[in-house]
Amino acid sequence: MATAIEKLPFIINPSLRLRSHSFQVCWHVVDAEALRAESHFAYPGRKVYLRKNVCEVMVQYFDGRFDIIYGEQTDWNAIGLQRWLRKEIRDAVVARANEILPARLHYWERQKGVRAAKVMVNSRLRRSTMGNCSVLKEINLAPMIVLFPLPFMDEVILHELAHLKHMHHCKSFWAHLSQLLGRDARELEKESDLFFSKYADLFFFLMKK
Ligand SMILES: [Zn+2]
Repeated sequence: MATAIEKLPFIINPSLRLRSHSFQVCWHVVDAEALRAESHFAYPGRKVYLRKNVCEVMVQYFDGRFDIIYGEQTDWNAIGLQRWLRKEIRDAVVARANEILPARLHYWERQKGVRAAKVMVNSRLRRSTMGNCSVLKEINLAPMIVLFPLPFMDEVILHELAHLKHMHHCKSFWAHLSQLLGRDARELEKESDLFFSKYADLFFFLMKK
């Protein structure tokens, strides 16, 4: 067990803090009896992780909030639990992305008087790509951006909307994006990169297929 767990770059346990404007993980410790009793109630969006037929952890996703209910005896070092939890968090992030990203993009389209041909949430973008815009003016957005602070999430969306007019990253693109953002795009990108560099490994770990 110990050797298997060492292969994971992150252990998901109650010290994990994941909280953005759009998505948050909330931890709740309850006593073993309460956990066992509660796990027998079906609840929309609830999933139960069993170990030896006993509830070890329950998770619940609703409206951007991912609750993790566990007991004091929960063994966070169990590889099976770690894999399950990572998948549940990833699925909740993807669900959240589908709930809010197209709507947020449409909001900015109305604000800025532009129109993409199509918007899709796409989990299969390359590691370095948070979004892209095709020559057909179809925009893809990575679900992970719901974990970003709102100004940085919006920056990704507006960056792709700016590509509707400029299909490159030349000076005219940055000038146009700055106009859409109402501030210096390069400066905002630096702030965003600084934030992302702190969390990139964790976010990629959580989101990998
Ligand atoms: Zn670009």
